[in-house]
Amino acid sequence: MKAAAICGTDLRIIEHGHQLIPGGTNRILGHEMAGVIEAVSSGVSGLKPGMPVAVAPNIHCGTCFQCTRGNFHLCHNYVAFGIGIDGGFAEYVVLPEKAILQGNIIPLKGAIDYEQVALNEPLSCCFNSLEYTNFSFGETILIVGAGPIGIMHSLLANKMGAAKVIVSEISEQRLEDVKSFGVDITVNSAKETLKEIVLDETDGKGVDVAVIACPVPSAHNQALECLAPLGRMNFFGGLPQKSSMTTIDANLIHYNYLRIVGTSRQSIEQYTKTLRLIEAKKIDLSGLITGRFKLEQWNRAFQTSQTCDGLKNIFLP
Ligand SMILES: [Zn+2]
Ligand SMILES: [Zn+2]
Repeated sequence: MKAAAICGTDLRIIEHGHQLIPGGTNRILGHEMAGVIEAVSSGVSGLKPGMPVAVAPNIHCGTCFQCTRGNFHLCHNYVAFGIGIDGGFAEYVVLPEKAILQGNIIPLKGAIDYEQVALNEPLSCCFNSLEYTNFSFGETILIVGAGPIGIMHSLLANKMGAAKVIVSEISEQRLEDVKSFGVDITVNSAKETLKEIVLDETDGKGVDVAVIACPVPSAHNQALECLAPLGRMNFFGGLPQKSSMTTIDANLIHYNYLRIVGTSRQSIEQYTKTLRLIEAKKIDLSGLITGRFKLEQWNRAFQTSQTCDGLKNIFLP
């Protein structure tokens, strides 16, 4: 293992456990990872020792209702590195046969920045988010939340031809930091009226796409009010399990032909596409890494991640 990044999911598992991890199980976390093949067992083709690889974390079953329709990323029986099986916060990780045969293990080319490759997992989730909202060239986007996920949406939206990227957030520090990631307009929604600024910035039309990248229910209707007719909104971030209800104005949806969607995870195809951008150095995620830790420093690494002071924290085993 060369690099494995800490994600909000890891923090939630530490705090609340996970439905796919039975109580009492010892599980090595880490699903955002990149490394080098150390050894292969007999019968493995396409991979050999010394080969640098990225690991797409979600392994599908191949036979469930969604898998048979080609929606592998919606597999009912999926197993993920760092959740259903041991993951990347370790010196070595075992890659099961199924993961190899399904294309989860992707050989890397050229000069490899393992840290950025590890971040391809969340990056490809954000690509899934933008694809699912049909975000396209010349459109405007509002991103609610300026954490790593908000930043990745901004970087990708720019690559996909965004006419304007607006980010709203309540932390002044994060609003300041996000400016270097392709954001055109920042709004402190605790101090300013988001709808007013968005309408002002879009000639009174509203944005084409809004992405919710923060776990705050009040953000939902705030963002909905900013959509242009035919606009799309994606719930990228969910809400805490015990308080997942939200309130939105049904008439806005009804009269304006709005579409509200949700996404989680990504397909291997999407994982591969964003990986190629990182390999080609056409997208730069290096500014997102604000903490680097050895495995022995795990306690400090998780504590730092809890504070939300920085962006991504990464283990370099
Ligand atoms: Zn993650
Ligand atoms: Zn399946």
